[in-house]
Amino acid sequence: MVHEQRLAAAQRAMSEAGLDALLIPPSADLRYLTGYDAHALERLTLLVLPAQGAATLVVPRLERPAAEAQAAGVAFADHADGSDPYPLVRAALGGAGGAFGGARAVGLGNRMWAEQVLALRAALPEAEQRLAGAVLAGLRLRKSPEEVAALRRAGQAIDAVHARMGEWLRAGRTEDEVAADIAVAMREAGHATVDFTIVAAGPNGASPHHGTSDRVIGRGEPVVVDIGGRMPDGYCSDSTRTYCVGEPPAEFREYYAVLHEAQRAAVAAVRPGVTAEAVDAAARDVIAAAGYGPAFLHRTGHGIGLDGHEDPYIVAGNTAPLEPGMAFSVEPGIYLAGRHGARIEDIVVCTAGGVERLNIIDTDLVVV
Ligand code: ZN
Ligand code: ZN
Repeated sequence: MVHEQRLAAAQRAMSEAGLDALLIPPSADLRYLTGYDAHALERLTLLVLPAQGAATLVVPRLERPAAEAQAAGVAFADHADGSDPYPLVRAALGGAGGAFGGARAVGLGNRMWAEQVLALRAALPEAEQRLAGAVLAGLRLRKSPEEVAALRRAGQAIDAVHARMGEWLRAGRTEDEVAADIAVAMREAGHATVDFTIVAAGPNGASPHHGTSDRVIGRGEPVVVDIGGRMPDGYCSDSTRTYCVGEPPAEFREYYAVLHEAQRAAVAAVRPGVTAEAVDAAARDVIAAAGYGPAFLHRTGHGIGLDGHEDPYIVAGNTAPLEPGMAFSVEPGIYLAGRHGARIEDIVVCTAGGVERLNIIDTDLVVV
């Protein structure tokens, strides 16, 4: 029933937003609304959700069995290879024969491929194309208790991997080798997919989205480990800890202490009514006061759910107040180009009484 309720909520929200239909390709939006975890491919898969009436999932014929097994609350219309699927979209909007049911504004899934955007423009020339995100983000922004429980399970799974880091992280091994061990452990801990394994040693740690490389980890080097994936139910994990392989430089210990304080201050700032940008400022003020302001070169966090990055963004300029059920990362960092860097990242959820950390493993510097 949850997907039927979400489809109905989306219909109410799109009516308020003045949209006549949503057109949603494979994405977290599609999974949220229907439960269908579809891969984006060149064959058209598209949820057609009019503001009133039944939802239709347009699917390639060969994927219909998979779609029927997963998607709830929709009718199905399939297309064979070599046939034009776009008349099915028009028909699903109530426009069989060409009279397009009066729909004048359609909301396209924000991550739709350009080739489909243009094909839909040609198929529905009378419809103004807008983004569906404004409508759907509002629904996905506040997690239900069941969604928070799913994110809590994801947090526990990634915590279990961080707890084992000492097994893999040592001088003389490459970042790639450590990342490969982490990926195996993530699956063992319950992840269905491994989405990223950042292992950034020494100077690579100053590049926030480094990834991994064949660089050999040296003694005394800080290592930023930022890892995340998807649980079988689709909910994402994302957690960063910074380690040291042997005793780090004194300067590193000094700014790690600053970062630690900043991260705790930002987590402590989370409660209903506080703005997203105030949480960012809580971390940034601590780091700036210690003289490292320019070295914290990204926002403090991002929302998380069925997407690894989604609303709300914890960034200067986001004046939206936090509400219970909003889940997001708190991940300040300090990056000294050419030397090393550090980041601490927890997923937290705003609760009626304040905040719950969904990553509960210790944030103290771990020397392995
Ligand atoms: Zn991360
Ligand atoms: Zn993150």
